[in-house]
Formats: sequence, C-alpha cells, structure tokens
Amino acid sequence: MTKKIAVLPGDGIGQEIVAEAVKVLEKLQTEGLDIEMQHGLVGGTAYDATGTPLPDETLAMAKAADAVLLGAVGGYKWESLDIAVRPEKGLLGLRKELGLFANLRPAILYPQLADASTLKPEIVSGLDIMIVRELTGGIYFGQPRGVRILENGEREGFNTLVYRESEVKRIAEVAFDIARKRGKRVCSVDKANVLEVTEMWRDVVNELHKDNSDIELSHMYVDNAAMQLVRAPKQFDVMVTTNMFGDILSDCAAMLTGSIGMLPSASLNEKGQGMYEPIHGSAPDIAGKNVANPLATILSVAMMLRYSLDEAALADRIEKAVEKVLDQGLRTADIYSAGMQKVSTSEMGDAVVAAL
Ligand code: NAD
Repeated sequence: MTKKIAVLPGDGIGQEIVAEAVKVLEKLQTEGLDIEMQHGLVGGTAYDATGTPLPDETLAMAKAADAVLLGAVGGYKWESLDIAVRPEKGLLGLRKELGLFANLRPAILYPQLADASTLKPEIVSGLDIMIVRELTGGIYFGQPRGVRILENGEREGFNTLVYRESEVKRIAEVAFDIARKRGKRVCSVDKANVLEVTEMWRDVVNELHKDNSDIELSHMYVDNAAMQLVRAPKQFDVMVTTNMFGDILSDCAAMLTGSIGMLPSASLNEKGQGMYEPIHGSAPDIAGKNVANPLATILSVAMMLRYSLDEAALADRIEKAVEKVLDQGLRTADIYSAGMQKVSTSEMGDAVVAAL
C-alpha cells in the first residue's frame, strides 16, 4: 500500500536541506518505493501565510501520514512574536498532537570526520550511541507549574516532575527493542538517589527487564552519565532517560561528533508513526546561501525508512551512500577540512543520489 509522507520544510535552511532529502526519496521512488509526498507549511513560514505556525491543514496532513519529514523552524524575523504563535509552537504542537513520546537521537561519528570533534580522535572515532529520550512527559509538561507571588512579595517559580508507570514502561520498551537491533545494551539514566520519581523509573525499568533479559541493562545517575559521555563515550550503546535529562545529554552527545549538520533524529508514537528531522535548527545565519549541510536531513530519511516504512535495506543503502560521499572527500563548509573538496548543499544532495 502506498505510504504517505508529509513533507514540512519549515523555515531558514529547512527549505534547502529538505529539498535534498526529497531528491533522495524521489530517486528511491523511481526504483519502486511506493510513497506519496505531500508538502505543507509549518513554523514562521506558516505564520506568514496563515497567521498560525501550525495550520489545521498541516496538522491533518501530518496525522494522516505514515511519517513526517520536517526541516526546521524559527528565525530572527519571528523572535518578537507572541509566544503562542512563535514558529517553535508549530513543532511542539506536532509533537503533542501526534503523541510522539519517543525521541531517538543517534550520535554517530563517521571515522572520516573524527577531526571535527573537540575530543581526541581515539575517544570518539567510530562512536555510535542511540539516546532514547522520553518526549511528552516529565518536568516539561508536569502540573502545577508557574510563578507565584509569596506573602512577603517574593516571586517563587515552580515546575513538577511527574511520570506514570505506563509512561516509563513504554519508553523503556522502545529502548530494549532498539538495543536488540544494535549492541544489545541499555543504560537507563536517572537521579534515583535524590528524586523519588526516578527511583520509580528505575524500578519499572528493572521489572520490564525481566521480559528482556537478552539485553544487558545498567543504570547510571545523570551527573555521572554526563561525565562518562565526555570521558569514555564509546562505553554506551543505547541510553534511555527522562525528557529533561535526555534534552541535555543528547545535545552533549551530539557535540561529541562536532558536526551538528550530520545528526538525524526520529520521534515516534505508539502506532509507529514518526516525525523525522535533523537535530539542528533553521540556521538563519546561513539560510538561502546553498551552503548548509543536508546530510542530517538525508540521514533522517534513512531513519524514516527503518522505523516507519519498514524498509531497513533502503535505510542501509542511504547510510552507505553518505559514507561513500564522505570517502570521496566531499564536504560542506561545516565539516570542511584542508585537502577535502568543498561542495554546496545541492551538490552534496546530488552526490548522495549518485552514490545510491
Ligand atoms: P541552529 O542549529 O539553527 O544553528 C547553530 C549553528 O549551527 C549556526 O551557526 C548554524 O549556521 C549552524 N548549523 C546548523 N545547522 C547546520 C547545517 N545543516 N549545516 C551547516 N551549519 C549548520 O541553532 P540556533 O542558531 O540556536 O537557532 C536558530 C533558529 O532555529 C532559532 O529560531 C531556533 O529557535 C531554531 N531551532 C529550531 C529547531 C528545530 O526546528 N527543531 C532546533 C533548534 C533551534
């Protein structure tokens, strides 16, 4: 059956990098991949055209799709808008409305780019970690929240860290399933020595492990995990953690690779529907110049094929094509080093299509 893909380029470089990812999908279409792509507006571009960063039409298209390919949202132009209609609301709205509770963020360092990291090449070369972050619960969504005025006139800010057992179970299940297809090791990250919520998190993960005993499970406090990520990151295979810890640790892990333009991500819901996007933003400083690196978005297409379209072999092919262009010495400006061949956004996209 034809699979539907909602293509939402968004703002800034989103337009340019998604165009290259679409070229890759079109190439696979000519070889028989049965997909239908529909384009929609999101973010600041959507606000300019319709007055809202997430038009109903876009939301309906995303809900009806098997997968969403997103570029990025945001930019200087919309920074002074009311928070309710800022571009980022479009992205958060999609995550919430689609129930995308599992955020998969790989941190992979291609050996060809080992020099791009700020860490020593021997510490990071060949790095391949998958961070599974809970995305729709925890302190970012917990109630009550706000800022109140105390009797003495002082302001007090408060947020609530809350997780239900079922929320922990479903994210841990995702982590075990992914580990099964990789190195078969899961490290659950918490702060069980201080926070009761995460003490329960640890108990639930341990209970679930009884049915997943083929996977090696370890636990780590978040402060130690942050330290270990920069000390010896290759010890990790899959890390699973809460929304806020995952937010912080995944940025840290991403930067181990030194190349924000190389890292894809996936956000999945319980039906296996997913939204796929590069981890970087809309890069307004380089938008419209045909210099952005499209590889993170192209690698997001590979994740889409693997996790939502059940086309693992095609996902492997895209990943190999990316390695091939790196082997050929092609580099966009963000990953350029002396002796390599500097290419534009569109030249990089064309090279990946050719390598396929
Ligand atoms: P950013 O990720 O857009 O850019 C950070 C730096 O990395 C910039 O110097 C940029 O030029 C560079 N960069 C990013 N992607 C690149 C690529 N593919 N190739 C080459 N260089 C690349 O983060 P920022 O500057 O903090 O934010 C810019 C805008 O993006 C803001 O409006 C922010 O809210 C938004 N943003 C959106 C998302 C998203 O849509 N998921 C994520 C982060 C930030």
